[in-house]
Amino acid sequence: MKSKSKNLIIISGPSGVGKDSVISRIQSIDSKISLAISVTTRKMRLGEKDGVNYHFLSRENFEKKIENSEFLEYSEYCGNYYGTLKKPIEKAMKSGRKIILKIDIQGAEKVREIYDDCFSIFILPPSIEALKERITLRNLDSKDDLDLRLKRAMIEIENACNYDFAVENDVVDSCARKIIDKIYELEKNNGV
Ligand code: 5GP
Repeated sequence: MKSKSKNLIIISGPSGVGKDSVISRIQSIDSKISLAISVTTRKMRLGEKDGVNYHFLSRENFEKKIENSEFLEYSEYCGNYYGTLKKPIEKAMKSGRKIILKIDIQGAEKVREIYDDCFSIFILPPSIEALKERITLRNLDSKDDLDLRLKRAMIEIENACNYDFAVENDVVDSCARKIIDKIYELEKNNGV
């Protein structure tokens, strides 16, 4: 049987669309909303911190967690594993807090199978050109990784129609406020 959770909020969007900025703006506006820290095997980027941006693990240790069924969901994205741990999500939900999962389209599908009334939000770029420019300018990854991320971004955007709400990230603050408004509007319509 599927679980019910009106407090679980999925946020997806292509690489470079500004998900991190929008989510941190959401958290600074509404302290009742927190972000689940995912586990990944990708290399730590400059400025990132273990336990803050992600829990960074080796492939071997990630695979041990898969074997131990510690993940709510996990998927491979551009050659690296990314996953959401079950325990912190269950704990946050018991406490009644709203929790954001910043996950890709595959992860979103898996979470929807488990929690059938979570809210899913897709962040779109103002234009494909703007997205390409942002991914390229960010220049955090190798050329191969960049190409992979661009290809992957196009696939992700085609999936925006599977989400409850799609919003353009033109200005971070207004995008964050539109998401918050939608979360509470959907909650009201769901009779919470
Ligand atoms: P990045 O390497 O740019 O931080 O993230 C790459 C992609 O992985 C993004 O689309 C991001 O949403 C996704 N992602 C991050 N954490 C998770 C997770 O726990 N599970 C899944 N399925 N995707 C994730």
